Order: sequence, then C-alpha cells, then structure tokens
Amino acid sequence: MSISPGDNEKSFSADLVVVNGTVHTMDPAQPAAEAIAICRNRIIAVGATSEIQKLIGPSTRVIDAKGRLVLPGFNDAHVHFMSGGFQLSSVDLRDANTPQEFAQRVGQFARKLPEGKWITGGDWDHERWPGAQLPTKELIDKETSKTPVFVNRLDGHMALANSLALKLAGVTRDTKDPPGGVIVRYPKSGEPTGILKDAAQNFVFKAIPPPSFEEKLSAARAASNHAASLGVTSVQDMSAAEDVGVYQTLLDHGELKTRINAVWPLPRWQELARTGVRAHFGGAMLRTGGLKGFADGSLGSTTALFFKPYLDAPNTSGIPADEMFPEGAMLERVRGADRAGLQVIIHAIGDRANDTILSIYEQVEKENGERDRRFRIEHAQHLRPQDIPRFARDKVIASMQPYHAIDDGRWAEKRIGSERAKTTYAFRSLLDSGAKLAFGTDWTVAPLDPLLSIFAAVTRRTLDEKHPEGWIPEQKISVEEAVRAYTTGSAFAEFQEKEKGTLAPGKLADVVIVSDDIFKTDPNEVGKAKVLMTIVDGRVLYEKAQM
Ligand SMILES: [Zn+2]
Repeated sequence: MSISPGDNEKSFSADLVVVNGTVHTMDPAQPAAEAIAICRNRIIAVGATSEIQKLIGPSTRVIDAKGRLVLPGFNDAHVHFMSGGFQLSSVDLRDANTPQEFAQRVGQFARKLPEGKWITGGDWDHERWPGAQLPTKELIDKETSKTPVFVNRLDGHMALANSLALKLAGVTRDTKDPPGGVIVRYPKSGEPTGILKDAAQNFVFKAIPPPSFEEKLSAARAASNHAASLGVTSVQDMSAAEDVGVYQTLLDHGELKTRINAVWPLPRWQELARTGVRAHFGGAMLRTGGLKGFADGSLGSTTALFFKPYLDAPNTSGIPADEMFPEGAMLERVRGADRAGLQVIIHAIGDRANDTILSIYEQVEKENGERDRRFRIEHAQHLRPQDIPRFARDKVIASMQPYHAIDDGRWAEKRIGSERAKTTYAFRSLLDSGAKLAFGTDWTVAPLDPLLSIFAAVTRRTLDEKHPEGWIPEQKISVEEAVRAYTTGSAFAEFQEKEKGTLAPGKLADVVIVSDDIFKTDPNEVGKAKVLMTIVDGRVLYEKAQM
C-alpha cells in the first residue's frame, strides 16, 4: 500500500473508502486489491481491506462492496451526448420491429405534442423489419399532417422526413442531391420518398428550430444522469460544438456527473485554432481541443466508402462525406489542425475511407514532424488486411464500438460478403498488431451501457442470436482486453492516461461497483451485469436501490 498525501498516517483519514471488494485496478503495478481510499477527488490508497480500514476516521464514508467487482469508471470514447439526452425524452423507435409499429409509435407520439412541434431522434432500424425496406413519408403522413417529423436511423446517416418536414425544408422533386448526400426518390416520379442520406439531411436540419439553452441544459442533465446510472464516468462527445457552454453551466451548478471531452467539428478547426487552444485543454471535468471529421457514411445506409461495390447495391461502393470535397480539402485541414496542436479525430467506416485517412495521417506526420499527436480513426470498421498494421505503425488510435458488431453483424454479409467481413470490427487483429484500442458506443447509435459493449467484444453474438459462437469468432477479445480498451484505452485516446483509467494512488476517483464479476462469469452473461454504484470525482453519484 502507498499513501500519497501527508506522512502522518495516524491522524489522516480518508473521505470515502470502498472495502471488501474484488478490485480489478487495470493498473499493471498492482492488478488486484480489496479496497480503495479516496480523499477529495483522488484515489489515495489501494490495498487490502485491513490496510485501508486504517484510513477510516469519524467522518469517512465507508462503502462495503460485499465482495463485488470494483472497476475504474468507464470512459466512452465516442458519444453524441446532447442528442443522447434529447433522445431520452423523444420517441423510441429502436426496437420497433415492423413498419406498422414504427408508424404507430410516431403517430402516438405526435398526438402528445402541440401542433407544429417537431419530432426528431427515434433511432429506427429497418434492418429489423421483414424485407428490410426503407420507410417512406406515406407511412407516417396521415398521422402527422400537422407535426413535422424527421426521425433518424440509429446510425444517424439517414433520416425519414414526413411531407410537412420536406415542405418546410423546401425539398421537392427538383432538389438536386448535394455532394456527400442522397435524396432517395421513387424511380418513376422522381418524387422524394422522405429518406435523406448523409449530407442531404442538412436540408431538413436547417429547417428545425434550434433548441433553447434551457432545453439543452435539461437534455445534458438527463444524459449525465443516464451515464452515471451505467457507470460511465467520462465521455468524449464527438458532436459537442457550441454545447461546451451548456456543460460548463451544469458544472458550475454542481450537476455535471460525467467528465466530458467536448470535440469540435473538424471543418471549423480554424475557429478553435484562433483561440490558441490545443489538444486536451481544460480541467478534469471538462476539456476540449479535439476535432472530429468525416470521411464517409455508414454501412447501414450503404454510404460507407469501399474499394469494391456493395453486393446488395452493385451500382454503388459508397460515397465520400461532403467534407472530402473538393479533392485535397481534407488533407489541408488535417495538416493545418495538426500544426495548430489540435487533436484530429476522423470517422472512417469503409475500407477505402480508412485507407484514405491513414494515408492522410501518414503524409501529415511526415510534413509536420514527429510528436505525440494521437491521431484517431473513429469506427475503423472495415479494414483491408494490409491496412491493419498501419494503425500500430503510425500510432493511430482505433476508436471502436463493439456493440455495432453484434448489431450490424446480423446483415453485414449480405452487403459486403464473407471475405470483407473477416476483417470487420477486427479487434483481435488490431490488438495483435500492437494497435491501441479505445472503446465506446457511439450513443445513441448504440445503447450507452458499457457492459453490453464488453459482452459484444467478447462474444460477438449478434442480436438476432444467429451466431451463438460469435460472428467472425477469430476477432473476439478477452474481458480483460475489452475493459482495458474501455478504461485506459479511451483515457489514452484523450491524453488522460496519467489522470484516469486505472485505480491507483494519485488517479482521479472514478470508481464503479458491478453486480457480477465479469472476469469470472460465463462470457454470455457479461451483458446482464449491472452497475450498482458509480463514484465520479470522489462523489457517489449513482446508487442502485439494492446493492
Ligand atoms: Zn458517432
């Protein structure tokens, strides 16, 4: 045991101790322990219960973990926190299993709203429906004639607008597809079906009145409470942009329960660069200095960019994101942002998009010289075998979301075939090649629950239960490796590995207590484990009624 502050052990007492736990520290120097002591917002000691008990004074809060698993707080390396917060109070279409159910839920929700108020969010998934047909505006128009609707597929890369929403957005038969976007149309009439893909969604986004600051505050509060209830103590918000001020307000009010790394849009890098801010600027609760860009779309929307065409849509091999135009723009942006000392984070899903971004990173590193820049690729979903070693070699972080594998894994092969599928969500191959993994969920694309994601990485059992031994089982990883990617891996991805990610003296006091020992249980049961208590910054911010 080691104690950092003070030398007089007898008079010193901790603010909070957790005793009688199965502490899995993720710290190689001391991997296992029974207890930890916290003073203010830092861990001051990790060791045996008998040792930690010596730090109990009259005002120490003592938590008896009753043998349960104690872990560092989870750090979700990729979320959309504000839209997550809004989704918590919007119509939930994720598990609508038929178009009829989808329509019914939208209709029901519309009846509860004042006329003219928009319905957004939803997170629907047509891949669940018989035949996997995309929904159309006609499906919901009758029930929503006075309510503009723009509900997105769970990947956020396409959305369905009803006729009123299209009208308000000015999208008609004559509207041309924008670069990086598609207006899906009826083949004969050319009339939009209501589905807008990727950049085409912006037509409608512009027509939706922006939420007020107060509405944003309450969404952020809901998101933060939700995170605490799942043991997520840090998030890296990929679409924070102007919301930093919302988070700061919550922080000022003592209501922020989640450490937030607020990432800014890459195309607007100069605005951030002009302030002089560099990567990971800020405090332990709120930081900024990362920039998120897009190289392509998504597999579910057939817009992820591949070298070869889709099997089920042979006329396309995906589309580059609008940010990739004009030619050379992305390279120039990455070069400038990197030179300004900001961290570049780019979404790439298809194998071609990944190759392109890796090449841009290589070139910028060559031009700007070596430094600890921690370039990231978000999703790194489909990789050609020859591209896998480039992550370790070029020190590019693969920031991945294992839940997508058990979700997309239901139907991915019909789209890309079995050969390309072999190096899809290639956790094992990436780790074996020496790459650094950071895990997260892409919430609301996937549920925010880290234990579900760990289950996904470890079992690769698809949601439809059609792969009981795992979809592409060679790419499974161990619970230990998955937890590491979710704690130290994601801390590294935001330059915070010295501050968090392990339970060790001196680290920030982010601790979770879990119902089951996921290192010992049947891997198939890992997703059923629940977080019982969440400590953030030394404060107990979530406690399940019955521990
Ligand atoms: Zn995302």
